[in-house]
Amino acid sequence: MSSAAVQSEEQACEAFVAWLDRRVVAAGRGDGLDRLEVAPSGTFWLGRIACEDEVRKGAADERSERLDPCAIGIRLRPVEAPSWSMTVTVRARAWVQDPKDGPDPERRWWRSDLVKEVVSVTTSTEGGSFGRKQLEDAFVAVGAPGLSAEVRVDVEDWHKEIELVVQLVNTSPEKAPGLTDSHLYETQIEVSGLPTRPFQLETLPDSFRYDRNVPAYGVNVGIEALAPGVFRTSDTVGVQTYRPTYWQGTNAPPDLSFATLADDPLPQLAALVDALAEYDDAHWSPAVLDARQVAEGWTDKMRGEADRSAGEVFAELDRLRVGLELLRTRPEILRAFKLMNKAIARSAEGRGYTVWRPFQVGFLLSAIRFLVEPDDEARYVDTVWFATGGGKTETYLGLLLTAAFFDRLTGKIMGVTAWSRFPLRLLSLQQTQRFADALAGAEMVRKEEGIGGTQFGLGFLVGRAGTPNKIVPKTEGDEITPDSPGMPDKYQVLLHCPFCRDENLQMRFDRQRWKLEHRCTSPTCPMKGQALPVYVVDQEVFRFLPTVVVGTLDKAASIGLQQAMRGLVGPPQKVCPVPWHGFTYAERSATPNGCLVPNCQGGNVLKPLPIDPKWFGPSLRLQDELHLLRDSLGAVDSHYESLLDHLQRELCGTRAKIVASSATLTGYDRQVDVLYQRQGRVFPQPGPRAGESFWTAPTTTPLRRFVAVAPRGVTLEHVSDRTLDTLQRCVRELVDDPATVCAEAGIDQTHADLLISLYGTDVVYGTTLYDVEAAGRSLGSNNTVAGINVEQLTGQTDFDEVRAILERLENPEDDFAERIHVIAASSMLSHGVDVDRLNTMVMLGLPLTTAEFIQTTARVGRRHPGLVYVLHKIGRERDAQTFRHFEQYVRQGDRFVDAIPITRRSRRVLELTIAGVVGARTLMIREPASRQRLSTPAKLRDYARNSGMTPAAESAAVATVLGLDGAEDTVHREQIADWVQVWFAELEDPTNKAKYVSDLGPRSPMISLRDVEANAPIHD
Ligand SMILES: [Zn+2]
Ligand SMILES: [Zn+2]
Repeated sequence: MSSAAVQSEEQACEAFVAWLDRRVVAAGRGDGLDRLEVAPSGTFWLGRIACEDEVRKGAADERSERLDPCAIGIRLRPVEAPSWSMTVTVRARAWVQDPKDGPDPERRWWRSDLVKEVVSVTTSTEGGSFGRKQLEDAFVAVGAPGLSAEVRVDVEDWHKEIELVVQLVNTSPEKAPGLTDSHLYETQIEVSGLPTRPFQLETLPDSFRYDRNVPAYGVNVGIEALAPGVFRTSDTVGVQTYRPTYWQGTNAPPDLSFATLADDPLPQLAALVDALAEYDDAHWSPAVLDARQVAEGWTDKMRGEADRSAGEVFAELDRLRVGLELLRTRPEILRAFKLMNKAIARSAEGRGYTVWRPFQVGFLLSAIRFLVEPDDEARYVDTVWFATGGGKTETYLGLLLTAAFFDRLTGKIMGVTAWSRFPLRLLSLQQTQRFADALAGAEMVRKEEGIGGTQFGLGFLVGRAGTPNKIVPKTEGDEITPDSPGMPDKYQVLLHCPFCRDENLQMRFDRQRWKLEHRCTSPTCPMKGQALPVYVVDQEVFRFLPTVVVGTLDKAASIGLQQAMRGLVGPPQKVCPVPWHGFTYAERSATPNGCLVPNCQGGNVLKPLPIDPKWFGPSLRLQDELHLLRDSLGAVDSHYESLLDHLQRELCGTRAKIVASSATLTGYDRQVDVLYQRQGRVFPQPGPRAGESFWTAPTTTPLRRFVAVAPRGVTLEHVSDRTLDTLQRCVRELVDDPATVCAEAGIDQTHADLLISLYGTDVVYGTTLYDVEAAGRSLGSNNTVAGINVEQLTGQTDFDEVRAILERLENPEDDFAERIHVIAASSMLSHGVDVDRLNTMVMLGLPLTTAEFIQTTARVGRRHPGLVYVLHKIGRERDAQTFRHFEQYVRQGDRFVDAIPITRRSRRVLELTIAGVVGARTLMIREPASRQRLSTPAKLRDYARNSGMTPAAESAAVATVLGLDGAEDTVHREQIADWVQVWFAELEDPTNKAKYVSDLGPRSPMISLRDVEANAPIHD
């Protein structure tokens, strides 16, 4: 086959995905089988329709009808007035059971020949039934007497325009002599000869961007439009998406390679900005919008939206121009930008990418002003919006390194530049590694360029069940000592050496320096023999204040409890004179001189801070997955964000810039206002048409094939098991008999091994832990293929286990039988697990939010064509709705994203957060200012008396910190005043038994922001 010889990998993947999908649909419908041992009605989930009698008799509600429907159909809008004529082609088969003494007693069920009847329909506004006798006769002819069906046409005129619903209805009796199964199988109808006009999706916000035409709707099925006026039902709804390109300019793209931007960036950046200006003029000028308004029939409202969007687009262009101008005129910014590029080039070495995507550089230009106008720019939250990933993290890292170099060049030679937070449990090891790689690149560049200051380092600050808060000499409770089980290997965070990529890292606990260290064992590593500048124990993060701290959001709660958290919002106290002990904090009985190293012998003469204390406040706080900060978690975080702002302002007089990433833009302005009390700004601005802007547009290269499945008559678990079973069976056939499979699928056999690797591991995704565990278990016991190796990836999976699984996925075993075949995963997978070998997914029901759907499915098909089965829990109203609009749901997902429910005025949440605010103010502000210990109620009592602290002043301060000082916040202020009153009364009472200040008041400060998540609903 000469044509097959030139087949590319991409084409082979495409052909293989198409073949897999045909096989799965065939398994669901029962195609190609002659006989069965078991009842077909308990096996097949596609193409079948139950008899009307049975459905009516059952719990005759809409829900059960969806679960095992008695009809399939097409909803159409005719162009002409009645009466209407059309041709309806019906296809179906029957399954019949032989008597016990039949020809094959082991496999008594047999499949009939195909019934294919062309039914002529002519109807007035009355509608009617057609072809019943014709179809009954046809079933008799294939050996299935007793079955009956009809084409039923209903005319609905209660919408604005007349709609025809053309259905194939199974009218068989439930029981009749000789009838062994009243279902029809492999059903399909095709309507032709009727001129139709499309439906118009109702006007949603933003609608000027979208194609609102829907040619026809399916009833319990998908629809394929074969030609104008020709519609055919399909058992699943398939939607193909295409890979984006990242350049839409009319000229060739500028050279945005790391190397060029490290060397001579200005000409390339100018070309980028010019190209954007040209595009914006060509797509957003009033004349262009006028023309579209006429051509596409926009309403005034739609035009108003388009004008507003145009305003935002030109504002974005202005921001890029300002960024470019700063690079031209401010040498230190230009130098920081160039060094950042050099560092990113270094960290990307050997990973096959050497250039930025234009949108990444666009974002950097648009955001860079915060370096020189920090106060003004801190008023905005800049959000990177990229619905399907595509380099968000690298974009952040570019900004972060630019800021880190800028700090060093302008005198901040130590301390934290950025604190980057991920929502609970969603910081993956792969994400952490990327941060480490970037910082290692920066550190190598820093050394080469002779830039002063401490090493660039990374801190890892996560909540419980991650790495230790501290390491103690002797076990007390569940504290960790150098000799605890699993120490030190258990706390390896990095997957490879960020300096040389060697995978042989060694964990070591250095007793002398009291440090838990990652070390690289490669003899050629630039860090050979030294500890890597990575700090995974909380107290080491405080002692060394590495350049970037990456962690989980819940850790912010420690600010109300732990004095050493001060290093993340402002200056530490002093420096311990003992080498490697680092910064010191408040004196406590366990840390008498403020040094966090146990039994420090450094004495009480500490060294002063080497730089102005005000410089310790970080310049950036980053928030990944912003859209997840909602409900109670959003409310509680909004209070802690305000607290962080307050502390930094008090301690340093500065305000950190906040940069975020989000999968959704719906309700974004309000969310940012509630969370951060800042204005929202998004990059990139959405383009003139859905999915298309200057920064991105679809190509013709397949990205993912989404297949919506509405299981009929059997459980979702059954369908999931059978689907995975089929996918595994297909890949095993390819392993065992590549010649046959490749011939059947139209694949050049040289690609077989690649396909086995790329499609040999399936993901089954559940939205609840229960679903995930059940899926894993039932697959182990329910499959027809032997030896399916299942692994779980959920929030419950241990750290080192996650690392081992990722390692096996990245570097699969040589023998297919040894590999992981199925990953049963929860939302943990949706964040930062990027494995190019994951290309098939079975989703158990729609996730609660569209954002989760978008992000989760983006985990497959990252580099090669992906295949995603979305099994709808069709009994649920929402799933049923989405099945009906599945194509729009996939293609226009961003507009199905629900507004984010969030408030900072939750009284329940306020009850939880006041203690943290009062506690943090004492620890971070009062205590250092007082130059004494305020750790016990007695000491704080004396201080309060001497300093004139009053309940009224403290309540007012708390209300101001939390932004609850408006006219509408009276009840909240009363709540705060009541709380503080109790706290003060306990403080003033010498007989009170509280041992620590944090024990005072109605409740102690929260230990983790997770405390609220545990008992809060995900939805309001
Ligand atoms: Zn190394
Ligand atoms: Zn010390």
